[in-house]
Amino acid sequence: MAAAAVLVICILVLAGSLSLGRGLLCLAIILLAGGLGGVVANRTAGPDIPLDSGAGRADYGSLQDMISALPDPTIALAPDGRVISFNAQATAMAPALRRGDPASIALRVPDVVEAIRRAIVTNKPERVEFSERVPADRWSEAFVTPVHAGDGEANARPAFLLLTFHDLTPIRRVEEMRADFVANASHELRTPLAALSGFIETLKGPARNDVAARERFLDIMEAQANRMARLIDDLLSLSRIELAAHVRPVTPVELVPVVRQVVDALQTLARDRGVEVVIQAPAEQLVVPGDRDELIRVFENLIENALKYGGSGKRVEITLSRSKAQDGGDEAVASVRDYGPGIAAEHIPRLTERFYRVDVTGSRALGGTGLGLALVKHVLNRHRGRLMIDSKTGQGATFTIRLPMSTGTAPAVKKDAEKSVT
Ligand code: ADP
Repeated sequence: MAAAAVLVICILVLAGSLSLGRGLLCLAIILLAGGLGGVVANRTAGPDIPLDSGAGRADYGSLQDMISALPDPTIALAPDGRVISFNAQATAMAPALRRGDPASIALRVPDVVEAIRRAIVTNKPERVEFSERVPADRWSEAFVTPVHAGDGEANARPAFLLLTFHDLTPIRRVEEMRADFVANASHELRTPLAALSGFIETLKGPARNDVAARERFLDIMEAQANRMARLIDDLLSLSRIELAAHVRPVTPVELVPVVRQVVDALQTLARDRGVEVVIQAPAEQLVVPGDRDELIRVFENLIENALKYGGSGKRVEITLSRSKAQDGGDEAVASVRDYGPGIAAEHIPRLTERFYRVDVTGSRALGGTGLGLALVKHVLNRHRGRLMIDSKTGQGATFTIRLPMSTGTAPAVKKDAEKSVT
């Protein structure tokens, strides 16, 4: 019977229906209930419970081993709520835990104490979620599971109770990020949509026969529609790149022609802004394993930003070179330097966040979506590369990317704490 249950749990874990931690916990419960049954059933367990160490039987020593092996904070409680055993993770969470003391002394969360009380009274498993704000926001769930002796009846007094905690913080953070992202994306789309609806209404009503106004409004509507299209393009690119985040692109891409192609395509913008774009490239080829289209997007974003936000400096310099990475391998280095207003230090670490902009209105007026540098960061992550931003207010900005030139599994390069943003 126990063997069948173990087999089912293994299959569930392998199929991904059950997490490894939960699987281990279930195994522990089954083994302990089977092995410990005769030892602890119908006893008021406590620190001095006599242990039966007969052949084939587990004792509290093995209960402790089992609990120590579990990845989550775990505490075994006697049926009266006193602590029998716990692991190091539980000590880290509740340093006041002592064998023989009621668990309520060490556990500060009233909901958990109440769940233990309910499980003792009802003899049924309990689950509670709780959050703590100090020292940092954390979300957790706790399970109180009455464990019955192998040959005991289901509604008899449990042999012991297993209290386990599971950290929900990473899941909650991802949920928050996703909610923020949807709210931001909707807001960004709603603004041009509202403008479009407003102009359509005006054209159908008061401006129906005003030819001059119609021309002007149609131009604005076209710009707003383009903005929505750009936003949707960027969102789709971002999600496509994220989906492929773990697959490193390996097609050889020569960087210098890529940069020249991007600069050619941006010549009109450079001319409009009166900016001279200078490229300094080595005579040798700089070939990196990569995805050509994605690398084009990286240079488009960086050079377009330099022209848009740093255009007042009237000069943009793009420098390409080969350098040695910290792991000894070769890397291609490309930097885009402008002489515009620069970026204040407090904004630099956040520039690659989706929708983060130093000046939202200014970015929108220049056709920005706030996704460009997020896209750059994700492309570079996929290429095992890095982005560094160096800027001081009033002194322009330099965006430097580093891309490994071989496909070898280079160890993650240590980040420059001040400037590296990927
Ligand atoms: P956007 O679509 O707004 O250009 P990005 O993610 O490309 O979005 O850039 C984020 C913000 O970073 C921009 O809105 C701008 O405020 C700032 N920024 C980017 N490049 C520069 C630069 N070269 N000089 C000054 N500010 C810059």
